[in-house]
Amino acid sequence: MQDIIEFDRIDKDGPQSYRATFELNAEELDRVELEKTGPVTIEVQAAKGDQPGEYILDGTSTFTADLRCSRCDEPYPFANTSPFHLRFRPRPEGSEQENEEVEISDEELDVEFYSERAVPLKDLALEQIQLAIPMKPLCEEGCLGLCPQCGVNRRREACKCESSVVDDRWGALAGIRDELKKRES
Ligand SMILES: [Zn+2]
Ligand SMILES: [Zn+2]
Repeated sequence: MQDIIEFDRIDKDGPQSYRATFELNAEELDRVELEKTGPVTIEVQAAKGDQPGEYILDGTSTFTADLRCSRCDEPYPFANTSPFHLRFRPRPEGSEQENEEVEISDEELDVEFYSERAVPLKDLALEQIQLAIPMKPLCEEGCLGLCPQCGVNRRREACKCESSVVDDRWGALAGIRDELKKRES
């Protein structure tokens, strides 16, 4: 299995296709939202771009994981498939530092700068996963989360606190209504 994209090989033999599956561990991704990671599969077509030294990487990464819901704190299964389109260009002179900001215009947001003419598929896959994991994962759109009063998971069981809060609200409304009636009369 070839799991490194080599630009020299593309120069020599033309466009290349790659496909690899990796087992990941949660530490590699370092995201608290991650409970458990499944395998990730990445498929990439790599070819030369229009600019000198430019390479275009088109592909898809697919992975499954268990994420922890940011509201109710329960793990839930997550599956993601993200297509990507990246342009790799040689790192401009004088910006050797890994994290140095390079001015790029909006339509060039998918540009990445390389110093090495080899890109491990696993690095690409990790990058796509980082982008795909939501900042605030939700087990379901309307997850009610934990009850702020008794801590019960309101997705699973109803607690008494909620109904008493609702009752209070009705009580408050009734109070306002009485108040308005008094003013009217
Ligand atoms: Zn939840
Ligand atoms: Zn409660």
